[in-house]
Amino acid sequence: MSVLIYVESNGSEIKKSSMDAVAYGTQVASKLGGSAIVVAIGNIPQEQLTALGNFGASKVLHVTGDAFNQNAPLASAAAVVEAAKKAGAKVIVLPKSTLVDSFAPKLASQLKAGVVTNVTELPDTSAGFQVKRSIFTGKAFATVSINTDIKVITLAKNAYQGTETGGTAAVEALSVSLTDADTKVKTTNVEKMSGELLLTEAEIVVSGGRGLKGPENWGVLLDLAKALGAATGCSKPVSDMDWRPHHEHVGQTGVKVAPNLYIAVGISGAIQHLAGVNSSKCIVVINKDPEAPFFKAADYGIVGDLFEVLPKLTEAAKLLK
Ligand SMILES: Cc1cc2nc3c(=O)[nH]c(=O)nc-3n(C[C@H](O)[C@H](O)[C@H](O)COP(=O)(O)OP(=O)(O)OC[C@H]3O[C@@H](n4cnc5c(N)ncnc54)[C@H](O)[C@@H]3O)c2cc1C
Repeated sequence: MSVLIYVESNGSEIKKSSMDAVAYGTQVASKLGGSAIVVAIGNIPQEQLTALGNFGASKVLHVTGDAFNQNAPLASAAAVVEAAKKAGAKVIVLPKSTLVDSFAPKLASQLKAGVVTNVTELPDTSAGFQVKRSIFTGKAFATVSINTDIKVITLAKNAYQGTETGGTAAVEALSVSLTDADTKVKTTNVEKMSGELLLTEAEIVVSGGRGLKGPENWGVLLDLAKALGAATGCSKPVSDMDWRPHHEHVGQTGVKVAPNLYIAVGISGAIQHLAGVNSSKCIVVINKDPEAPFFKAADYGIVGDLFEVLPKLTEAAKLLK
């Protein structure tokens, strides 16, 4: 019996969410008395694959080939199915990603497995196999029992933090033969925003709201973001008024972020905004109104005028470098 963990890279290195999934899968394997085996798809340098042993993986099955470099969901599903059969996997762990969102149901159907998404904690295996999942954009949790022989779980962002344990994993090539149907859906073009950090992948996000009064004032926020190496976001009205581009709009109807640090500047903290940020590990709120609702969701808060606070924070951040 083994636990299979799927990992993906951002083109040059394995994503942090995948490393966390490996650490999570390793813990599940030790609970069930099995081994943790990784399936990695696409061009990932050998040393990075070996280093997955540092997060507890004993073996890595590496699948390569042109069809797997095109963000092709059906090909990825076929590769994970093949790896699951080879590993004799009973539990398959997937990190949160756009590609995983598109292939997890197909994978589960091919393996006749029960699938639970957005899982936030290690399973309870004391009586069966139960997992806790986040629902209603993080406002509630549901406990779900999976009773199929094979179980597929996808993790919520920031659900589990990997810790390095030491060790190296053995890497083995896995060949997967694809049918025409497996390559019917593929990404033909990817345009990356140049010079900007990807909001969904950033470790730190600095977001601004209507409290900045106008687009001409954004410099104070951009300076702080630059000093911290952060991506920038904004509230919905800010992008609606074209103060900032729409791809920066964070919230229920915008981008959902889960950085280690989210700094909200001049944002009131409406429920629709919170829905997009409540998976952040640490939330810092800067607002001149001590009654602003965002303070209830904050780990740290600064009550003050952002035009006085931000330059001071930026200076302090620069000193830390
Ligand atoms: C269906 C629906 C979906 C929505 N989806 C989203 C969404 O995805 N994301 C989103 O953000 N909103 C969304 N909204 C809008 C949301 O309800 C709020 O209206 C919006 O988040 C408010 O934006 P804001 O906090 O920037 O502005 P405001 O509510 O105007 O708040 C501005 C804040 O800045 C503070 N401030 C003012 N001046 C200063 C200063 N000098 N220094 C420090 N603080 C200052 C004020 O005290 C205030 O708290 C949605 C609404 C609906 C109805």
